[in-house]
Amino acid sequence: MELSKFSVGNEGREVFWNAENFEGLLFAFTAIAMAIFAYGIYKRWQMWTALGKPEVRNDQIKERIKLLLTNGLFQIKTFRDTYPGIMHALIFFGFIGLMFGAAFDATEFHVGEPYGFPFLIGKFYLIFSFLMEVFGLFVLAGVFIALYRRYITKPDRLGYKGEPDNTPDDAIVLLLLGGIIITGFVIEALRIHVTNPPWEVWSFAGYTLAKAFAGVDNDTARILHKVMWWTHTFIALGFIAYIPYSRLVHMITTPANHFMASLKPVGNIEPIRDFETAESFGAAQLEDFTWKQIFDSDACTRCGRCQDGCPAYLSGKALSPKKVVQDLKTYWLERAPLIVAAKKAAAKTGEGAVPEIPAPAKAMVGEVIDLHELWACTNCMYCMEHCSSSIEHVPKIVNMRQYKVLTKADFAPELQLTFRNMENNSNPWGVGSHLRADWAKDLGIKTMAEDPNVEYLFYVGCAGSLDDRGKKVSTAFAKILKTAGVSFGILGTEEGCCGDSAMRGGNEYLSQTMMQTNIEIMNGYGVKKIICTCPHGYNTLKKDYPHFGGNYEVYHHTEIIADLIAAGKITLKKAVDGLFTYHDSCFLGRYNNIYDQPRRILTSIPGMKMAEMDRNLDKSFCCGAGGARMWMEEHDGERINNMRTDQAIATNATTFAVACPFCLTMLTDGIKAREKEEKTISLDIAEVVWRAMDLEEEKPSADVCAPTQ
Ligand code: SF4
Ligand code: SF4
Repeated sequence: MELSKFSVGNEGREVFWNAENFEGLLFAFTAIAMAIFAYGIYKRWQMWTALGKPEVRNDQIKERIKLLLTNGLFQIKTFRDTYPGIMHALIFFGFIGLMFGAAFDATEFHVGEPYGFPFLIGKFYLIFSFLMEVFGLFVLAGVFIALYRRYITKPDRLGYKGEPDNTPDDAIVLLLLGGIIITGFVIEALRIHVTNPPWEVWSFAGYTLAKAFAGVDNDTARILHKVMWWTHTFIALGFIAYIPYSRLVHMITTPANHFMASLKPVGNIEPIRDFETAESFGAAQLEDFTWKQIFDSDACTRCGRCQDGCPAYLSGKALSPKKVVQDLKTYWLERAPLIVAAKKAAAKTGEGAVPEIPAPAKAMVGEVIDLHELWACTNCMYCMEHCSSSIEHVPKIVNMRQYKVLTKADFAPELQLTFRNMENNSNPWGVGSHLRADWAKDLGIKTMAEDPNVEYLFYVGCAGSLDDRGKKVSTAFAKILKTAGVSFGILGTEEGCCGDSAMRGGNEYLSQTMMQTNIEIMNGYGVKKIICTCPHGYNTLKKDYPHFGGNYEVYHHTEIIADLIAAGKITLKKAVDGLFTYHDSCFLGRYNNIYDQPRRILTSIPGMKMAEMDRNLDKSFCCGAGGARMWMEEHDGERINNMRTDQAIATNATTFAVACPFCLTMLTDGIKAREKEEKTISLDIAEVVWRAMDLEEEKPSADVCAPTQ
């Protein structure tokens, strides 16, 4: 047969199809499947909208469409983890390709061909056939990889504490997908076997499979074709009908969740505004979350990316961010239908009737979410950064903590002491606030009270003002600023705690009190620009203070030092010894995207040799001190700071450079716990820089110099 534009086409289809009066039946089955699908979505919609406080997530449409395209269509977040990313992409893109192909084919069959406009012909048909084979093989490969991962290699992330969390639903979905593709190829192979047009070599998978039917006579092949065609149709329609009732619902909820992702600054916790009037604070019940916080859990695919880098989970604590989301989802699936039914009953009773919502069988905080889980979170943001469905775990955890702290006053004793210290002296240690500026006594630094006409306020923070190790960092940084001729001042004894630990520890009231006090003082001096050496202060001054009228340009000291080096305002001349590694602080890296400046500073020091830890940049492992964990004991599992120290030791580095006073304390403790003090030290970048500046007159104290090699 000669290949020409019009002879090449979906040849042979009519051999099997036109002879049959199948269309009525097909439309009937399709209508049933679509009705089951629509009913499922309707029920789900009722549940999505049944409970939760209002929240706007349909503003800034352009930004949201960008997120939908980036993460929903192009799968960028999913690709961040290569192996499962490729697995998912094979299924996702293959499936989309086949959907378009099927729609195209149906259009030609029902509209194009009958009205004399066939378009699946000629070269176009050949390319179309080829692409459909590729897409089909993509899906099949993805399904096999998924089966292999879930049932053979069983990575821990697809379970909890070594136990796989497979459900029958997982297997059904994969079998449906695989079934659609395999039956599709068999139908094609049988058609090619009977019609045998030479161009079908372009349908290479079906063409190859057709050889398997070499001994089958045409009549048998036709019967087989009919059976397989209906099997294929039933599996495909079953797949559609199953979507709202299974994990497949994520085909709808996950893209929707990307579209509705938070556009607020990373780590944003909405402030409580109704302290005067509310009777309960934080989230005690599902109803205390916003509808979006509840919807989140229905977008979870149980991929386990969040769990894979969660320091609490990896150190053996009860907390797994995936488990939190899944437990909340199970709870929602139990509660939401009851609430929907109660609302319907009330609506029937008459206008204004109050729904009689049955009391929950389990308390959300304490039973659904265990308190050990709740308090183990370091707010490190790994889960949110890497969640392929844009789920927001951290605000939910903080909201539940707020309930325990503000409504129930029931939380860890060590945190009670910390909060009391903050209340009395505006610092977590309870050191007299009059001692806050003692570190600066002999450095000739002016306070804002002495001279408010400076360019920058150096907000020193509690650790930088009162912790012995932190004071050395403040000293080194202040000397760098003075050497570079930067105009700056400090608040001295007027400075108070930034409020980060109180806020993330659930004590929003205390946090707001301290923030507002600081804002009043800073605004009183007309402060415009602030530098912090602590990423916690930096993050909260930059993102939370604007909620209360504190609007400043906030810089981290690594940003300032990097700029001073680039501008030639400071010169690094003394070479450093040994090998360095840099630990990315969560509140600097994942929260504020500052990865580059610390590395630029270190690599501009003469003689610098650096080794990166395996878990670095946005996959950095928390030191264990965020989310108010700095002030709490670790009762279960391995200490997180020791695990991070081990990761740093594995690089053979002798200096662990940090840019956060909490990380400095945690790694210094880790070095002691691992008995590596002889060979290893942890230093803040400011200390390393000051040493490299090698100024005759002002040397840093001996114990901030690199250790003996
Ligand atoms: S913020 Fe960090 S510690 Fe908390 S759940 Fe997420 S990954 Fe785990
Ligand atoms: S919360 Fe996100 S990252 Fe974690 S399992 Fe669910 S979809 Fe995956």
